[in-house]
Amino acid sequence: MTLAYHCLHEGERPKECVHCGRCLAACPLFSATNLEELAPRAKFQLARALESGAGGLSAGQVTELASRCLSCGRCEKACPEGLCAPDLIARLRSASPGWQALVWKNWIGRAGLLWPAGGMLAKLVPQALEKALTRVLPAPLDERAGLALHALRAMRAKSPVRPWLRVRRFDPCGKGTKAVLFAGCTAEHARPEWTRTAERLLRGAEYDLAPAPDFGCCGCTLGHAGCKAEQRAAQERNLAAWRAAGRPLLATFCATCRCGLRSYASVDLGWEPFEAEAWMKAVQPLSSLIGETEFSVIEEAAPARVHYHRPCHGAGGGQDEDLLRRMAGQRIGRASRDVCCGLGGVLQVAAPELGARVAADAWNFFAALPGEQVLTGCSGCVLQLASTRPEGVDVGHWLDAVARN
Ligand code: SF4
Ligand code: SF4
Repeated sequence: MTLAYHCLHEGERPKECVHCGRCLAACPLFSATNLEELAPRAKFQLARALESGAGGLSAGQVTELASRCLSCGRCEKACPEGLCAPDLIARLRSASPGWQALVWKNWIGRAGLLWPAGGMLAKLVPQALEKALTRVLPAPLDERAGLALHALRAMRAKSPVRPWLRVRRFDPCGKGTKAVLFAGCTAEHARPEWTRTAERLLRGAEYDLAPAPDFGCCGCTLGHAGCKAEQRAAQERNLAAWRAAGRPLLATFCATCRCGLRSYASVDLGWEPFEAEAWMKAVQPLSSLIGETEFSVIEEAAPARVHYHRPCHGAGGGQDEDLLRRMAGQRIGRASRDVCCGLGGVLQVAAPELGARVAADAWNFFAALPGEQVLTGCSGCVLQLASTRPEGVDVGHWLDAVARN
């Protein structure tokens, strides 16, 4: 098997792990388990052994290695060599025949069928779903099937966060600017109310909001899963839809979607001159688009304290956190910076028990009490934190807290 185990971008010198160990503290999987074999350094060493043929890794070991990563990207930020475990893992996944990407491709790529159906199934006939999961998850099954079921139920359930913020005055900062919303898979299939609230905020800020063009999945999770052809098809579809809509402002409210969309600019998608730059300018977080819009707190519905979870991907300049602080004022409790929710795409399918251990670390950080809330700006983080939350603590997107009228 040929692998580019070092993350190479065009024109760069080959990079290799220098065993400095800086990635260890950054890796949420290592922090939660203390298992060196799950750390980024071990992944690069194993991949090198695999490439040189000296490691003698079996197909099963390769699959194991490829499945044990959250693709959070925290190691790349810590590594002095700029080594990128998510890229390495994605290559491993795409090079491994029979890899569980097939499962994930079905989960994400056919989300319209699988997410609501899976959630409904989990709610109504857990035994049937458990049986289905036993066919796709490796042993031991009991704990894994239970955790995956729990995550599916969290997708299906209505958000427990009742609106406790009301717009007092809109800032007409968008006056006449043409905009479209990129809602993403979770909002489209499991949380349509996020889209309705986002549309209301954009219209209130006087954007000329056009109906959403023919967007599909951003492709980010497909890429991490090693489904490169499907990721490319998703990118081409979204770019074509944006062009057909007249290249408007592209508002996003999921940090992972935003990260995935912005990554298009570094891919050769047949950009016209200056078009990639225009794309980067167009893709903006919703929280940065409503200017000085003012909110008031609905006291009888507001939680005692609200914590903010910063997603690993696409948190940008912290616009969601800034907006939440402005909206919630004194109610803001803890705000995470270096805490991963543990969702991790493929890991959620292949080894959800590891994701649950990472989530436990996140909950230790928040130390949230019953009656408090954790809000974030990433669809995946909402689902993962909702399925692992302590009793009495509600989890949602910040849009859940905003009343739609
Ligand atoms: S991407 Fe995240 S989970 Fe994977 S090796 Fe890097 S820090 Fe660890
Ligand atoms: S930080 Fe980079 S160079 Fe250092 S041990 Fe980790 S992967 Fe290797």
